[in-house]
Amino acid sequence: MTDADSHDKTIGKINVTQIKRRIPPLQRQLLELGPLHPGSISEQYNVCGNPGCRCKDPKKPHKHGPYYQLSYTWQGKSSTRFLRPEQVEEMRQKVANYKRLRELMNEWVGLAVERERAERAEEKHHRGD
Ligand SMILES: [Zn+2]
Repeated sequence: MTDADSHDKTIGKINVTQIKRRIPPLQRQLLELGPLHPGSISEQYNVCGNPGCRCKDPKKPHKHGPYYQLSYTWQGKSSTRFLRPEQVEEMRQKVANYKRLRELMNEWVGLAVERERAERAEEKHHRGD
């Protein structure tokens, strides 16, 4: 066996082992995620119906707001609703947790695909010897 052959084989074995090691921490992080919600929060500034209001000042309009809006799409249906100011911080955390969930899921699925590939490569290597 040449150096190159043994090198390849070692890397293949380390890969599958490393992949297996990286999955449990992801699963733990998924379990530890707190309350979550899909979507994003935006700030809105509005103009009212009062003729003399500061929001209509021709030189320096001072619009009302910010009003916080949560927008999300779930199961093909889009929704938007206003949040009360005291709800905003909690919803920001939920939206961040959902984003984290998606990242962790992507990592897990990515590792699963990579593991399958690495295992097949190793099998092939053993059969092909
Ligand atoms: Zn106004």
